[in-house]
Amino acid sequence: MTKLEPRGRKVKILATTGPATADPEVLRALFLAGADAFRVNMSHGEHDIHAKTIANIRALEAEFHRPIAILADLQGPKLRVGKFADGRATIAHGATFTFDRSDEPGDATRVQLPHPEILDVVEESQRLLVNDGKMRFRIKEKSEKGLVCVAEVGGVISDRKGVNVPDAEIPIPALTDKDKRDLAFALEQGADWIGLSFVQRPDDLAEARKLMGGRGALCAKIEKPQAVRRLGEIIEQADGIMVARGDLGVELNPEEVPPLQKKIVNQTRLTGKPVIVATQMLESMIESPAPTRAEVSDVANAVYDGADVVMLSAETAAGDWPEEAVMMMDAIAKQVEKDEDYKERVRLLDTPPDPTTADALAHACMTIGDTVSLGAIGVFTSSGSSARRVSRERPAVPVMVLTPSMEVGRRVALLWGAHPVQTKDIGSFEEMIAKGKRMALRHGFGGAGSRFAIMAGVPFGQSGATNLVHVVTIQGDELEGY
Ligand code: PGA
Ligand code: MN
Repeated sequence: MTKLEPRGRKVKILATTGPATADPEVLRALFLAGADAFRVNMSHGEHDIHAKTIANIRALEAEFHRPIAILADLQGPKLRVGKFADGRATIAHGATFTFDRSDEPGDATRVQLPHPEILDVVEESQRLLVNDGKMRFRIKEKSEKGLVCVAEVGGVISDRKGVNVPDAEIPIPALTDKDKRDLAFALEQGADWIGLSFVQRPDDLAEARKLMGGRGALCAKIEKPQAVRRLGEIIEQADGIMVARGDLGVELNPEEVPPLQKKIVNQTRLTGKPVIVATQMLESMIESPAPTRAEVSDVANAVYDGADVVMLSAETAAGDWPEEAVMMMDAIAKQVEKDEDYKERVRLLDTPPDPTTADALAHACMTIGDTVSLGAIGVFTSSGSSARRVSRERPAVPVMVLTPSMEVGRRVALLWGAHPVQTKDIGSFEEMIAKGKRMALRHGFGGAGSRFAIMAGVPFGQSGATNLVHVVTIQGDELEGY
């Protein structure tokens, strides 16, 4: 087994795969540089390429005995215009432009919008945003033929450019036929998390859940104002949340995103489910080996806010400096977490324990770690639930998650502070203590004299039966033969 030190940071790094990571050596370099999880973006690339990437990730996992989370991100109902006779057209500011039903190639006066349900549901004076919001159209007149708009902000529009419709709730399900095919593929490939794009309502999650049939965990991407309005219900139905700032900043004004990011992070943190801050975190590193100061601050602030995960998109998927981007993110996170004010800042959010034994013990683990010096908190869990409750407390020390289930180990790889370890089933209290100590030593969380808090449920193997915390100290003679 190749030995790997603990990461030395609590926040997790999620790196998107793509052409830049097709070489298994690059993927390996990203993992070694600090990527704890990988996002496979189903918006791009073919299934056979994704299958190779997933196999390469699983090979790394086996080599380093470290469960790695794979998040398969479904494209969702991304709306696009049709094609142009010349591939593109230039629309002047203030010009009239029509989105219609005709599949004739477009020109400077019109183009097809091949989504009849949009044409039906939008109203006059609502907006259509094209190409990441760079062009803005307002509907002047809605007719049988289509939508006659005025270009409030013109520009160059080209084939198949994306369209956002922020003002209307679109009566289309969050899963297209392509998404259903991609979902079946991802589950067959053993993806641990499924990312659901453009969620508008809690029912969208229910639909995905039905198709998932108990496999994988569900991450709802918050990128529509409709989802923001029903945030509480969506968090409740999801297993994790992504602040998808790219589309969110198009559907809303960009200046509305930072306060929303904080709100979504806090509201999700209260539940103990992981929350991911995504998009443009180190955007300039797609082309440059060094980030802008503003990007460094952005990553740092997400870490100070106590997000579980910070994400890289094109920086690792298609950029020129994928390894450097992960190293940079890792360095920023470590620097923040070293700050003596960090612990206090992360706990500015009050997360009172639920009135359950598991939460009382999770809270106790956190205060033990604040009171005496601990190498780690070891949590024995079969479902991952107690690991979530401990992570939610944002303890000062790492949370070693001991579980017989590889699926659970991979899933918790997205949790703040969690260090997943797959172990065999255990039968007795003595065995649990011995194993907890052995794993803490093997995974580099301490040596002779180190203390650990171990949380578990007795009898073993019963999910939801957490009922003990035991504090142990490693004796010198226990260092032999672990
Ligand atoms: P995407 O999602 O990269 O799949 O669009 C993230 C975002 O919109 O920020
Ligand atoms: Mn998006």
